[in-house]
Amino acid sequence: MAQQHYRITLLRGDGIGPEIMAVAVDVLKAVGAQLDIGFEFTEALMGGAAIDATGEPLPADTLELCRHSDAVLLAAIGGYKWDNLPRHQRPETGLLGLRAGLGLFANLRPATILPQLIDASTLKREVVEGVDIMVVRELTGGIYFGQPRGIFTTETGEKRGVNTMAYTETEIDRIGRVAFETARKRKGKLCSVDKANVLEVSQLWRDRITQLAADYPDVELSHLYVDNAAMQLVRAPKQFDTIVTGNLFGDILSDAAAMLTGSIGMLPSASLGESNPGVFEPVHGSAPDIAGQDKANPLAQVLSAAMMLRYGLNQPTAAERIEQAVLKVLNQGYRTGDIMSPGMDLVGCRAIGDALIQAIELLNA
Ligand code: NAD
Repeated sequence: MAQQHYRITLLRGDGIGPEIMAVAVDVLKAVGAQLDIGFEFTEALMGGAAIDATGEPLPADTLELCRHSDAVLLAAIGGYKWDNLPRHQRPETGLLGLRAGLGLFANLRPATILPQLIDASTLKREVVEGVDIMVVRELTGGIYFGQPRGIFTTETGEKRGVNTMAYTETEIDRIGRVAFETARKRKGKLCSVDKANVLEVSQLWRDRITQLAADYPDVELSHLYVDNAAMQLVRAPKQFDTIVTGNLFGDILSDAAAMLTGSIGMLPSASLGESNPGVFEPVHGSAPDIAGQDKANPLAQVLSAAMMLRYGLNQPTAAERIEQAVLKVLNQGYRTGDIMSPGMDLVGCRAIGDALIQAIELLNA
């Protein structure tokens, strides 16, 4: 029996999901065998695959299984086949149900430029070289959920659209703490992004984050207005380590930060709650255009497994091993089509998986 033992729910989903998940599971098993970490993997249905089998994108027993596991590893869901179903039956509705069902209020999106892939970025080498940012986005509050909301008719008969940006102290504190803890595991710098010069909700945000800082004297806190943050992200992204922000600003800034790297097949993410297990998944979708052809890049899925080890299971050494193996494979020149560049070796999803296992074995040698 391994020293530590974790129950992991696997949601392979649709499209390239099964191919990239197979690689991530092999990698986890390899690193687990080395470090005496045991994984008990249980598969469950979600997304299009679940709709076909049960009529629902997130069957109740899938959510139950997720709730009772230590972490959830999700690949990708969706595809053309299910695009025209009524909203409550669409694959994406399953994703929202999973987030709500597990109370996942913190979304962690890293944007790291790997030296081997610098040319994939649309920005100049000197601007992006060395970029390593983590965006911590609040996921279950703010303007996406605030009440009142709707399109109303005024007394003059004109239509008026309304959304409400609201945060309670409790909501700010819990995302703030995740962000400070995350910064602590990185370079110890946290930048909080708001619009406190205009919005009261942002003023409260800034006040609470500033108060929380007293509990984290080892973390250096700064504040930026969101307009300036957007400029700085594309002007001088290396100044950032960890960024924390609300739902709307985080939605926009995490995509902008991700695109500094230029390669969607490389980007992992983590969604965390208070006591429930976290969900770890690549940022990309199910890529139905290349599904079943052994063309998918499995590295975002593999790096999501590394995030699961670091942020979900507190196994940083295992996470590092996986990240080192990814760098090794890229150094060896192996590339899938999405990150291919001249002079490199074009290979498929399975071959990347084999190379990762070899790299992990060499780490132990
Ligand atoms: P997508 O991310 O699936 O694909 C966009 C492009 O990037 C495609 O050309 C695809 O081949 C490529 N790509 C994506 N991941 C790749 C990988 N790992 N390796 C190599 N190439 C990769 O986005 P889309 O085409 O807009 O959406 C396809 C389906 O995925 C839709 O049904 C959509 O709703 C769903 N989707 C799901 C998620 C999720 O599961 N979280 C996220 C986004 C989209």
